[in-house]
Parts: sequence; C-alpha cells; structure tokens
Amino acid sequence: MSDQHLSVSVAARHREIRAQYVLLLPERLAALAHAASDAAEMLRQAHGLVGSASTFGFMDLAEAARRLEQVLRAPLPNAAAAATQLEQALAGVLGAGEQALHLPERVEDAEEVGPRAEELTVYLLEDDTVQADELVSQMRPYGYRAKAFTDPASFREAVRENPPSALIVDIICGADYDAGSETLTRMLAEGPVPPAIFLSGRDDFAARLGAVRAGGAGYLTKPVDPATLAERLDQAIGRESIRPYRVMLIDDDPLVAAQYATALGGAGMEVEVLVDPVEAIPQIRRFLPDLVLLDQVMPGCTGLELAAVLRQQEGMLSLPILFLTADQALGDKRLVLDVGAEDLLLKPIGTVQLVSQVRARVRRARQLQAMMARDSLTGALNHAMVQEHLATEVARARRDGVPLSFVMIDVDRFKRVNDEHGHAAGDRVLRSLARLLRQRLRRSDIVGRYGGEEFAVILPGTGPSEAAFMLDALRRDFQAIGFRGAGDVLFHVSFSAGVAGLTDASDLAALNLAADAALYFAKRAGRDRVHIAGSLSTPA
Ligand code: GH3
Ligand code: MG
Ligand code: MG
Repeated sequence: MSDQHLSVSVAARHREIRAQYVLLLPERLAALAHAASDAAEMLRQAHGLVGSASTFGFMDLAEAARRLEQVLRAPLPNAAAAATQLEQALAGVLGAGEQALHLPERVEDAEEVGPRAEELTVYLLEDDTVQADELVSQMRPYGYRAKAFTDPASFREAVRENPPSALIVDIICGADYDAGSETLTRMLAEGPVPPAIFLSGRDDFAARLGAVRAGGAGYLTKPVDPATLAERLDQAIGRESIRPYRVMLIDDDPLVAAQYATALGGAGMEVEVLVDPVEAIPQIRRFLPDLVLLDQVMPGCTGLELAAVLRQQEGMLSLPILFLTADQALGDKRLVLDVGAEDLLLKPIGTVQLVSQVRARVRRARQLQAMMARDSLTGALNHAMVQEHLATEVARARRDGVPLSFVMIDVDRFKRVNDEHGHAAGDRVLRSLARLLRQRLRRSDIVGRYGGEEFAVILPGTGPSEAAFMLDALRRDFQAIGFRGAGDVLFHVSFSAGVAGLTDASDLAALNLAADAALYFAKRAGRDRVHIAGSLSTPA
C-alpha cells in the first residue's frame, strides 16, 4: 500500500468517526443540560466535551465547554450570581453545540505518516572494496540496498545529487585516520545530510567524538554485525522494525479514542482501545503494548491514579506512559512526571504530531529494552526475554492461524572444548554460533541464549519440518567453521537441536517441554543432529 492510499483511508475513517460524533452530539448536549442539578456529573460531561469537541475540530464548542468547566470548578461566591453565570455558560455550550451540528464537514489534510517502502537505499563510504562488497550483500536481507563508494569526493557528490535514506561511513580511509568524519562534517556545513552511522576499527574517544561532531547517529566498531547495523539504520531512519509498534489507548470516550487510534493505525502501529481504566492491568498483560496513551479524566479512576497503579505492577515499571488529555490542570507536567510518565500531550493533537511523539518514545524504549534484554557475550536475548517473546508470538500465531516453531540448541561436548582449547576459545564458539543464527535466520525470527551453551530460536510463521530443514543447514554450516584454540590448534564444533511446532494443544509450557525433549532425543541419538518433537527419525 502506498503512503498516499494509506493517508486517504485514514482521512476517510476519520470522517466516518466524526460523522458518528455529530450524530451523537445532541444526546451528549441533552445529557449535559440534564445534569444541571448534579454539579459533579455536569463537570464530568463538560470536561468530556472539551476533549471530544476539540479532537473533532469544533473549537467554538470546545471553548464554550471549557468556560462551563471553569464556572463549575470556581463558581462566584454570590449564589444568585453563580446561578446566572452557570446558566449563561450552559447556554453558551448548547448554542455552540447547535452550531456545530450545522458546520460543513471539515476537509482534513491527508497527512503523510504512512510506513516505509519495502527497500531503502543507503550509501556506503568504504575504501576497502572487499569489506564494502560484503556489507552490501549482508544488508540486502534487511531491506537495505547499499551502494558503495570508495572515495569521499564521489560519495559527497552522490549524496548531494540523489540523497539516500541513510549513510554508512567508514571513519578511516586509506592513510587518513579521520577521513570519514571529516567528509561528513564538510557535508553538514553545506546543508542537510541523511542520518549517518559510522563504522570504524578505532574505538578511541577521539574517533567517537569526531563521529558525534559530524552528526553521527551511531558508531559501530568492526567487525560489524549486519543485524546490529540494520537495527541502527532502522532507528536512525525511523523505520519500524518488522514487529509493529503496539499502543494501548485508554480513554473513556470511544469516539475520541477511535479517532486517535485510527491516526496511529494509519502509521502502521497496532492499537487497542480500552474504555474502562479498571480493566487496564489484565488488558496490558495480554496485549503487551510498547506504550500506553492515557486520558486523565475517566470514570473509575483518573489517569494519574492509573499510572501510579501500573507502576506498582511487576514488569510495568519501564512501560512508557504518555498522557493525552484535554485537562489543562495537568498542563505544568509536574504531576505527570511525578508518576513516572514520559510526557503530556494536550488534546487536540494533529496526526503527524501524535505519531512522531509516540514513535520517538517507543523507539527509545525498545532500544533500552534491547540493551537490558541481551546477553553481553553473544548479543542474543536472555532467557526471560525469549519466554516473553514466545508468549507474544504464540498468542499471535493462534490468532492468525499460522504455524510457529520453537527450537532449542545445545553445543555438543562443549565442556571438552573449554578443557582442550581454553575458555576464551569456548567464548568465541558461542559468539559465532549466535552470530550465525542471527545472520541466517529471518529478521522476524527471535534468537536467545538460554544459558551456558544453550540457545533458543522462535520461528514465527514456520512449521516444524521447515524449521528442522533450516536448522539442519545451519548445523552443517556451523560444523564447517574452523576455530583456533590455545596453541593455534584448529578444531570444529557441532550442535544438537530439538524442534517443536505449535499444535492446537500445546501451550507455552508444553512447547518448551517438547523442544527440550526433542533436544534430549537428539543428544541420545548421537549428537550433531536435529530432531523434531514427536517424530521418530531425524531429518536427512
Ligand atoms: P553435551 O554434548 O551433552 O551438551 O555436553 P556438554 O559438555 O556440552 O554439556 P555440559 O552441560 O556438561 O557442559 C556445558 C559446559 O559449557 C560447561 C560450562 O563450563 C560451559 N560453559 C557454560 N557457559 C559458558 C560460557 O559462557 N563460556 C564458556 N567458554 N563456557 C561456558
Ligand atoms: Mg552441551
Ligand atoms: Mg548443556
């Protein structure tokens, strides 16, 4: 789908929701007028009207409702005067509401916030053609078409004439130890430059500082792991990874929520709306959002209270919370920051603004999470994260009715590797296995280190026989790698793997057990093989 189509359909959906709002507006106004004897109820209704009317572009109505809200919060001390003041404010709202019903339909700008095209072009400045060629082919599976340049001058010219999505720049060119950052600095002086990731054999402070000053969006030391580079590029460009951003929107007004949900959905995010804040905890545990967008004034509890309750929950301490409210009393942000929320957005907010605020928060949160969730030796996810991903992916596979495989891998006779070739060589073996898995599996596959020399892989969308076939190819490739240990002795290492497919009956525990049992079977059958749970033989 092109960006344009996407924006048009968002705009169309927005018009539908707005039409629904107009249809229900007389009812809202009647309820407001009806609440005249109940000040608290009237305040709630008036406040709701501020948020909804502004969201749908009825600014006069929103303004009149805000005035009524003020009057209700701080009535004049003289009772008769207060009554008159209230009457006037209410009449103001009803009048503005009546007018709103007859306003022509607002023509909404089709704001372009659609997700990315499939393949993006990046330019690479790298004087070593061998490394350049390798990187170009390695970036392809991640949706990046890299074009390599060996000298700074032609690189600069190409960027100026036909700017790509991002730049990958080797810091050292030939004998010049700062050529890359100097080139970028010069380009920055001439005008805007696409985001740049620096690659370098240097890990000194001066080199890193040079990259920062040259506007670098990232710095990776060689040898470069293609998956990491792709991740950095995604972040720098703002391209969402394959797993769409998930947002839970908690707002008691379903039409207002639908309007914002449509905007975020149009930008490629998965959005769920929750109208009842009391349901928040189980719903968040189920949906596992990357971010929660929270209204302040709701029946049941306020947004601030809900945020405080969420922060008490295990595993929700780092969940990003953004307030989205028409409540200007929260305007100084201090209360919001105090409960550990990220920020406060005031209704109404434009689509582009909302999307960019949410994207920035989710990107950062995922970055931090990725750092905490990874094993420092291999860069693979840790045990807890694998289980978390497995829960999410199993739920998704069931919902979409697609297959899923879970694989456990254990290095064969690894104790002996350590004993004979040294612990450092053992570490290298683990690192290269992790790297091989990441390089060769799909982007959506999840690789984790389960402990010691055990790894786990989640393959969404892949059935067990296909998974076993892939693992078997990996097994052969891994075995072919020659390692050098203490005393420069060349040695080879193998692994065994157990594959379990998601069946109708299996839950998380069953899936883990089945993969574990299959791995055990592979070990017992002589190691260096892949076994599928429930099958009698190993794949050829
Ligand atoms: P099997 O084929 O039955 O799996 O035999 P094994 O020797 O691989 O299995 P075992 O579980 O007995 O030994 C695993 C060894 O892995 C023991 C431990 O010292 C080593 N190990 C665990 N974590 C690390 C690590 O981070 N680095 C290194 N170098 N060795 C590790
Ligand atoms: Mg082992
Ligand atoms: Mg073991």
